Amino acid sequence: MSSAPNHTGPAEANAPSSNFLRSIIDHDLAKPEYANRPWAGRPGGAEVQQNAPADPAKVRLRFPPEPNGYLHVGHAKAICVNFGLAEEYQGACHLRFDDTNPEKESIEFANSIVDAVSWLGFGWNQFGDDNLYHASDYFEFMYQAAEFLIKAGLAYVDQQSADDMRANRGTLVEAGKNSPFRDRPVAESLQIFRDMRAGKLDDGAAVLRAKIDMASPNMNMRDPAIYRIKRAHHHRTGDAWCIYPMYTFAHPIEDALERITHSFCTLEFEDQRPFYDWTVGNLAMSHVTAEGETLRPMLIHPLPKQTEFARLNLSYVITSKRKLQQLVTENKVSGWDDPRLPTIVGLRRRGYTPAALRLFCARIGVSKADSWIDYSVLEGSLRDDLDPKAHRTVAVLDPIQLILDNVPEDWTDTCQAPVHPHHEEWGTRQFTIGKRLWIEGEDFQEVPEKKFFRLFPGNKVRLRYGFVVECTGCDKDANGKVTAVHANVFLDSKSGTPGADTYKVKGNLHWVNAADAITATVRLYDRLFTDEHPDAGGKNFLESLNPNSLTEVTAYLEASVKGCKAGSAFQFERHGYFVADIKDHSENHMVFNRAVTLKDSWSKS
Ligand code: ATP
Ligand code: MG
Repeated sequence: MSSAPNHTGPAEANAPSSNFLRSIIDHDLAKPEYANRPWAGRPGGAEVQQNAPADPAKVRLRFPPEPNGYLHVGHAKAICVNFGLAEEYQGACHLRFDDTNPEKESIEFANSIVDAVSWLGFGWNQFGDDNLYHASDYFEFMYQAAEFLIKAGLAYVDQQSADDMRANRGTLVEAGKNSPFRDRPVAESLQIFRDMRAGKLDDGAAVLRAKIDMASPNMNMRDPAIYRIKRAHHHRTGDAWCIYPMYTFAHPIEDALERITHSFCTLEFEDQRPFYDWTVGNLAMSHVTAEGETLRPMLIHPLPKQTEFARLNLSYVITSKRKLQQLVTENKVSGWDDPRLPTIVGLRRRGYTPAALRLFCARIGVSKADSWIDYSVLEGSLRDDLDPKAHRTVAVLDPIQLILDNVPEDWTDTCQAPVHPHHEEWGTRQFTIGKRLWIEGEDFQEVPEKKFFRLFPGNKVRLRYGFVVECTGCDKDANGKVTAVHANVFLDSKSGTPGADTYKVKGNLHWVNAADAITATVRLYDRLFTDEHPDAGGKNFLESLNPNSLTEVTAYLEASVKGCKAGSAFQFERHGYFVADIKDHSENHMVFNRAVTLKDSWSKS
């Protein structure tokens, strides 16, 4: 079921409402250890940070995407949470590429992430530091951290077969069994680990594991793997490494090296928190080896603290990079920036603005409990952002010709309308009216149904911002299809002229002048999925793809739109908000996407 989000107006939504993450930050900042946290101006371990000056940033947060796909609306939430809180607390927020999994990552994805975060209006240059980092820059540190743990007796090389390892892990109700390699001498683990790095072992032949507790009720604490052998080319480090750290080991170290104060992540990482704390905690302690050597701490306090919040689940939408990738590679959509996708590039092309997405994120807030946000909340945010800004204009999407019989072929007049009904200072737009006009096909009925107040023989309507006309009939083709509508115009009824309001009509139709209307391709979108929760409970989301999610029509636009640039947004009166497509639109061939309808046409009432 859709849960009711905090539904506030735009003004309230911009004001920080309290949330549990703010409470945690406030609580921590009151502690003396946070006041003088050192920060060397660059990431690093104890050696780099120890004697560094106090961090000018009150908090240090991060957004850590893996560059394995394009960001989506769920990431927008995480971006707004982290960059937003950093701004609010006069802190810093790092953009960090969590690029520890070479096979699926690429520069193309990394660049798209930089674009998405900047487009949303956030930057990572704070207090003179360019806080864009790569986890792969810490590979050497992570390797040394792994050796540190081996020497401290806290990690060992395991050479069980994958099957044995799995079997010995136990289950939720049964403790695991210690590996026969668990108590091998430190020197032996160290040597094999070095051999792993040197490429002397095959992929999968050994793993380095943390030595914690095979009987822990938390499966993640049953000697988790921290390094694996994988001969994979990395998009930044090339073939320098054939061993890679596991994400769960790498992530806390990345946070600690970057002196992150609060590591906010989504709820699925809750069970990983004990291992997060175990990792940074042990690396920040001194240890004495079996030989009596003292290992000095590799990290300093205060250590980063992980806190989880609920991920965004949006109805009718899929927010999994892997599944989005599948839609792209199987050509179900035209690419990552298909305007039907919830990717940031897709939303942007559809007509979403950074302000609308930030408003959306403010409205949904952050909580500790998973819930579904109704798609209409996203659309509402866009409407609320565009309504006060978008210039008004007219488009006829399903055109049929209206011919004014009682004026000569060359009759014209000029009409005018406000650019925006609430911004008189923006002035008016002028457009021509002539003998031949385009109106919507649905605005004429030869035999009117009940309560139909638009054009039918004998009825008078006002052409919006123009004249009153009286319908006289229509032309039809051999199949009985209406091909043109006829009317007489009352020349003394022009809007805004004296006496115009003596005409009392119930219908007010939009129209464009046929002689100078602009022909444009207009794309009308519907939801990509017909199922409210397309991939919930392991459902195959491809089965609920909406075959009618895109309709392309040839429309006629008011001439005042002429020359508009790609990305310009308009309200096409009666039809919704439209944006000139940033890819396909040109002055010679105009292409508009409907970003959102005027009203929520989906609400179940
Ligand atoms: P996906 O499952 O789509 O691949 P991911 O979580 O693997 O997403 P990452 O690149 O690891 O993608 O995500 C970067 C950050 O964005 C993480 O901190 C993650 O928790 C957060 N994030 C991802 N999806 C969502 C979501 N739907 N709502 C809120 N935050 C999210
Ligand atoms: Mg992830």
